[in-house]
Amino acid sequence: MLPYTPYSEILEKIKSGEVSLVARVENFLERIEKKKHLNAFNFIFEDAIEKAREIEAKIHSGSAGKLAGMVIAVKDVLSVKDKPTTCSSNILKNFKAIYTTTAVKKLIEEDAIIIGKTNCDEFAMGSSNENSAFGPVLNPHDNTRVPGGSSGGSAVAVAAGLCDASLGTDTGGSIRQPAAFCGVLGLKPTYGRVSRYGLTAFASSFDSIGPFANTIEDIASVLEVISGHDENDSTSSRLPVPKFSEELTFPKDRSKSSENMKIGIAEEYFGEGLKAEIKDNINQIINWLKNNEFQIVPIHLPHNEYTIAAYYVLTTAEASSNLARYDGTRYGFRAPEASSLIDMYKSSRSQAFGSEVKRRIMLGTYVLSSGYYDAYYRKAQKVRRFIKEDFDKAFNEVDVILTPTSPTTAFKIDEKSSDPLQMYLSDIYTTSANLAGIPGINIPIGKDSSGLPVGMQLLANQFEEEKLLRVSAFIQNNYLRSLK
Ligand code: GLN
Repeated sequence: MLPYTPYSEILEKIKSGEVSLVARVENFLERIEKKKHLNAFNFIFEDAIEKAREIEAKIHSGSAGKLAGMVIAVKDVLSVKDKPTTCSSNILKNFKAIYTTTAVKKLIEEDAIIIGKTNCDEFAMGSSNENSAFGPVLNPHDNTRVPGGSSGGSAVAVAAGLCDASLGTDTGGSIRQPAAFCGVLGLKPTYGRVSRYGLTAFASSFDSIGPFANTIEDIASVLEVISGHDENDSTSSRLPVPKFSEELTFPKDRSKSSENMKIGIAEEYFGEGLKAEIKDNINQIINWLKNNEFQIVPIHLPHNEYTIAAYYVLTTAEASSNLARYDGTRYGFRAPEASSLIDMYKSSRSQAFGSEVKRRIMLGTYVLSSGYYDAYYRKAQKVRRFIKEDFDKAFNEVDVILTPTSPTTAFKIDEKSSDPLQMYLSDIYTTSANLAGIPGINIPIGKDSSGLPVGMQLLANQFEEEKLLRVSAFIQNNYLRSLK
C-alpha cells in the first residue's frame, strides 16, 4: 500500500533537474486521456503545460511558491475565472465563472498547477457520483462500481494517478466517503477553516472545501495553503492557521505524548448495517494502536441515530433556498419557449435540474413551509445542537474519535439509485461532523475480500486538524507501510 512519494520529494528532483515539470504535466495529461473511461474530469485545462513552463523557470530561479508545480484538480462546484463551472448540472451548462474561488486562488498564488475540473454529483448532492449531467464516474479499483460521492471525480483523479492532489467539498461526507471508496486520504476541515467564497452553495452552514491526496504530507501542505480568514466569507475563521506541514510528528518522547493521546470509540458507530469486513479491519487497527501505546477510550454519542434525519431536513432546507437563484433569468440555462415569466422559471428549472436536485428542493421547501417549519426544521435544528453537545462532551475526554467512514465498500453502479433512502444511509458515519462543524479525515486502511478499499475515519474537535494529521501520519508511516 501507499507506494506514493510526497510531492516535496518530487519537487527536490525538479529543482535538481532530475525530473522535468513540463514532462510531468504532459504525462498527467496523457494519462487523463488514457483513463478517460473513468469520466473523472468535466474539463481539462490545456494551458497547464504553459503554466508548467513558467513555474519550472521560477523553480530554477528560486522564486517559486510553496506548492511549486504541484498538479491539482478541482471539483466542478469551485469557480475558476473564465473557465466553465457547471456543478455537473445542465442548468449551468454554458456558464463561465467570473471570479476564482479563494481556496483555488491561494493554490495558484503558491504556484500549484490547476489541471482541470472534476466530475461530481449535481450540485454536490449524492453519495455515488451517479447524479451528474456528465454521466457517472467509475471506480478505478472496479469499473462496475461507484467511486462514492459527491466528490467522486476528485477522489478518482488522485486514486488513478491523474494529478498530485485535488480539492473536493464536503457537506455531509462528500470528501471522506469517496476517499474511502477509492482508497485515498481525504480531509474535511473545520467549518470556517477554509473560505467558501467561490464554492457554489449547497447547504451554506455545512459546506467545507478540503483536499484529497495519496500522502498525509500532501494533505497537510494543501490544507495549510487553502486555510485562513477571507474578507469575502464572513463565516471564515480569524483563528491563526497552524503550519500544518510541520504538524506531522509527535514530540520526541512519544511514549509520553501517546499517553496523552486518547482515541475515543463510540459503539453507536459500530451497529447494524456495518459490513463485517470493515469492522474487522477497524478492530485490527484499534488493537495495533493499543499496542502502540495509544489509549483507547469507550465513549458515547447518543444522538447519532438522528443524524441522517436532521441532516436531510436542514440541508434540503438550505438547498431549496440556495438553488432558488437558478431561475433562467441571470445565468445558466433558460427554457426557450416560455409564454410568461412564471412559465420561464418553471420550464427552465423543470428541464434543467436533475431528479435528485428536484427531490431536495421539494423536500426543503416543504420543511420550511408555514405549519411544518416547527415540526421539522426547528426540531432538526435542536437535534443539531444535541449532536454538537455530544461531541463537546466526548472531546472533554478524548483527543480524536475513530469510526468507520462508510458502512460498506464501493457498491455497484445502479445498485442504490432507485432507493434514495438506502443511498442516504451511506452517509451515516459522516454527516455528524458537518452537523457539528468539526474536522474529519478518511484514512485508507486495507482492502476487503473483493479487493476494494476500506477506510476509517478520525474526527477531532473544531480547529484541531493537527491532531488528525499527527495520528494519520503515525498510521501512514508505521502501519500502512508495513502492509503488503
Ligand atoms: N452524500 C451526501 C448528500 O447527498 C453528502 C453530500 C456532500 O457532502 N456534498 O447530501
